[in-house]
Amino acid sequence: MKKIASVMLATAALAFVLGGCSNEGNDEGLGGGSTNKIGVAIYKFEDTFMIAVRKSIEKNASGIAKLDITDSQNSQPTQNSKIDAFLSKKMNALIVNPVDRTAAGVIIDKAKAKDTPVVFLNREPLPEDMKKWDKVYYVGAKAEESGTMSGQIIVDYWNRHPEADKNGDNVLQYVMLKGEPGHQDAELRTQYSIQAVEDAGIRVEKLEEDTAMWVREKAKEKMASFLEDKGDKIEAVFANNDDMALGAIDALKEAGYFTGDKYMPVVGVDATAPALQALKQGTMLGTVLNDSDNQGKAAVLLASLLAKGSEITKESLGFEITDSQYIWIPYQKLTKENATSYKK
Ligand code: BGC
Ligand code: CA
Repeated sequence: MKKIASVMLATAALAFVLGGCSNEGNDEGLGGGSTNKIGVAIYKFEDTFMIAVRKSIEKNASGIAKLDITDSQNSQPTQNSKIDAFLSKKMNALIVNPVDRTAAGVIIDKAKAKDTPVVFLNREPLPEDMKKWDKVYYVGAKAEESGTMSGQIIVDYWNRHPEADKNGDNVLQYVMLKGEPGHQDAELRTQYSIQAVEDAGIRVEKLEEDTAMWVREKAKEKMASFLEDKGDKIEAVFANNDDMALGAIDALKEAGYFTGDKYMPVVGVDATAPALQALKQGTMLGTVLNDSDNQGKAAVLLASLLAKGSEITKESLGFEITDSQYIWIPYQKLTKENATSYKK
């Protein structure tokens, strides 16, 4: 098996040399100077974080693969039909950011039938689906880790600012803006952020929790209604991503926060460019870097190795592989103090 793969590799490399090494070149099938074709299905093009991942995929594909990138428009049936089209166009590998992560099983069955390897991204398939085939991988970040880090940012603030306990009851009254229910990042960030606060010995009281589906505008509306109901009782805002944290900040600004000494600690996750801006301005307390550059890079390098039939090792990929199928990209805590040193 290995031998066949290396012979194929050598043949492909020779064909590549003879064919003139162009990424723009003829892409009809393998051989004849072709570059591998990778079909990429993104759950929704307008998602801020996925825009950054997409940019990284495009940048890192240069010279190694020809991409066909498609928008699933937040619809799983749309994505399934795009994947059918990729498979009938004989893509050499797929990168899939599922709309619904429980749909991965069906996608794997289809891809396996055509012997087309799949790299899932950002939305983690269920473990039983990952086990269906060994040419299936997941590139992502440990949701628990980002939850814990965002909780710790609030803990640091609370411990350093006695006035953060506005009603002086020794309990942190908070609101939670959740991402899309069922998404591992929404469920686990919600759980682990609060867990980190409790683990630090701080008592908590949840005043409100609602989903804003990762979207800034929706978060602004939810936060405005939380403020209407609970007003100054709120002592901290947790958001599962930066777009929602920024939406909360929009509503807080309209309610007079961030002027004079009216302040609210708000944490997000992602470290998008506008979030880093908000950190510097002092409206966002902290965020957690969700490393879109390395997630996109690992996904496209992995897909191109799989497309070539190469062996996947830490050395060939340049990223650690866990349990033969997972590439975990670490998170990083960011606040005003270290955000200036972090350039995006
Ligand atoms: C990001 C969110 C994004 C979501 C999309 C998460 O990892 O933090 O900003 O909307 O992925 O699936
Ligand atoms: Ca309190």
